[in-house]
Amino acid sequence: MSRYAPVPFPSVKLEGQFWHERLDTVLDRTVPSQHKKLGEYGILDSLKLPNPPPPLRFPRHPNGFTVQVFWDSDVGKWIEAASYALAHRRDADIEAKIEAAIDDLEKAQAPDGYLNCWYLGREPEKRWTNLRDNHEMYNAGHLLEGAVAYFQVTGRRRFLDIMERYLDHIYAEFGTGPGQRRGYDGHEEIELALMKLYYLTGEKKHLDFATYLINERGRQPPHYFDWERDQREGGDASQRYVFGNYEYSQSHKPVREQDKVVGHAVRAMYLYTAMADLAAELGDADLKRACEVLWDDVMQTKMYVTAGLGPSAHNEGFTHDFDLPNQTAYAETCASVALIFWAQRMLHLDLDGKYADILELAMYNGALSGLSRDGEHYFYANPLESDGTPTRWDWHTCPCCTMNVSRLVASVGGYFLSTAADGVAFHLYGGIASDVEISGTRVSLREVSNYPWSGDITIHVDPETPKTFDVKLRIPGWCSDAKLAVNGEAVDVSSATAGYATINRLWTTGDVVTLTLPMPPVRLYAHPGVIMDAGRVALKRGPLVYCLEEADNGEGRVQRLKLPRSAELRAETDKNLFGGIVKLHADGRAIEEADFSELYRTAPPTETSSTLTAIPYYLWANRNQGSMVVWIPEAVG
Ligand SMILES: [Zn+2]
Repeated sequence: MSRYAPVPFPSVKLEGQFWHERLDTVLDRTVPSQHKKLGEYGILDSLKLPNPPPPLRFPRHPNGFTVQVFWDSDVGKWIEAASYALAHRRDADIEAKIEAAIDDLEKAQAPDGYLNCWYLGREPEKRWTNLRDNHEMYNAGHLLEGAVAYFQVTGRRRFLDIMERYLDHIYAEFGTGPGQRRGYDGHEEIELALMKLYYLTGEKKHLDFATYLINERGRQPPHYFDWERDQREGGDASQRYVFGNYEYSQSHKPVREQDKVVGHAVRAMYLYTAMADLAAELGDADLKRACEVLWDDVMQTKMYVTAGLGPSAHNEGFTHDFDLPNQTAYAETCASVALIFWAQRMLHLDLDGKYADILELAMYNGALSGLSRDGEHYFYANPLESDGTPTRWDWHTCPCCTMNVSRLVASVGGYFLSTAADGVAFHLYGGIASDVEISGTRVSLREVSNYPWSGDITIHVDPETPKTFDVKLRIPGWCSDAKLAVNGEAVDVSSATAGYATINRLWTTGDVVTLTLPMPPVRLYAHPGVIMDAGRVALKRGPLVYCLEEADNGEGRVQRLKLPRSAELRAETDKNLFGGIVKLHADGRAIEEADFSELYRTAPPTETSSTLTAIPYYLWANRNQGSMVVWIPEAVG
């Protein structure tokens, strides 16, 4: 089978209501308001060197760390998101703001190419002394992604030139050659950014350095972070890293030997994304196998039903198998966004719908929940249960998630389609139009649907001249009774392999494919190992996970509601809520509090009938503050 490659987002027009509306919000509100916040918090000023830096806004943690060390990355991510926005709609004001930031970065860059505004502004003598904690290469990676995006959209090279100078400095400093340090960053990111630059330029040195970073990670003895600490602190063991382990940064063993997903969740996902990129590029079977083993580990034991990752706030990451608490779930928005990156890379290593299923799950649930309806409020952590305390915030001391979700939405079209020499594959649905080239023939594709609310999908395939090729349609893993037809003639879906139904025929203009993906509401049960979900049930319809929110379910916390196992689940379109959504209803029970005056008593609580109303999880916390639950207590019988 030919290798499939994604159709880039500027070539995919979002016409469906769901993504069109999200995209407009990000363009109109999120990107401009994020720039305002970068200004208010002093992040843009931090680029203006050699001004003496103002007092620290966020004081150092006792271990010496402050979130300000990665402010460059916030600027890089904003430029990336804003560049994607420009691809949809040129905007002179946004372009001027990007250019102003690039001016500052250009002026800040040291004569030898080094460019990290934290170190240049505050402690230039300490650069490259703490890769373990201080994110220098991570910052470089995000700036590089911004530079690549800005170049791709505008054709302007200046930022890319700045970053290539910086990379030449990094390549001279680090490596396996004489006099070089064998360092790599504690927070992975630059690896996947280098792969983007390599795909853009074809220059092998970028591929080589990404390969070096991946190969070097976890090599010991000596472990680079220990060697570096000894250089920095004269071997003072009391100056230990707050996490005190290598797993936190996935540097506990060489990546090809890693078989358990550990540590900081975002770091892990960025690493695995780059590993999958490199596995594909180098044809490295061991690296691919490691990716597959790690994928299975996270899918079988460590992922929330929403595709949230990392239960613990302590390490912002993974703990042990089946540890998936709901109310205290960390499930950082960035981690679900990064899971989408990884899933997309895995999908292009093997065109297997199991990867697209997770890509879609994360997209519609764990990632999208991080952005409010108004486009200006966010979640960093995405719990699956709430007593009503958490609210969305308009910024964060560590604003990583804000621009991660905006850059995702602004480029979401890039996840829908892939092409190969002999075909096109549809991974996601939701109303798109794209002109692609297959075997030298221009083919106009138009997918019309009201997905994810409806699974009725029509695809118009219009080649310039009649042509034989594959049209591959993902049959989601959640769908058990898909129907497919070409020009009204049924196609047998049971022949679908690896989650894709393939139609190979001579396509001529006017051909129409209809795909019907029934999406009845379903109950999901967790593996009994997930003790937090024992006796509970989650609701899902199509790709959307649902939750009960207080705003729809009367007074009192939603935790007092129970869903009988036999209750019918009814889907209902509500045109007035959130611009039109599908809600779920069921006849359930409510535990009454009013007659329960003691803390404990021998008589069971009174239960009354109650209609349960569920909304999609990604929409929670967009109305009044209130309780929320994804895993609903189940009444059996
Ligand atoms: Zn984040």
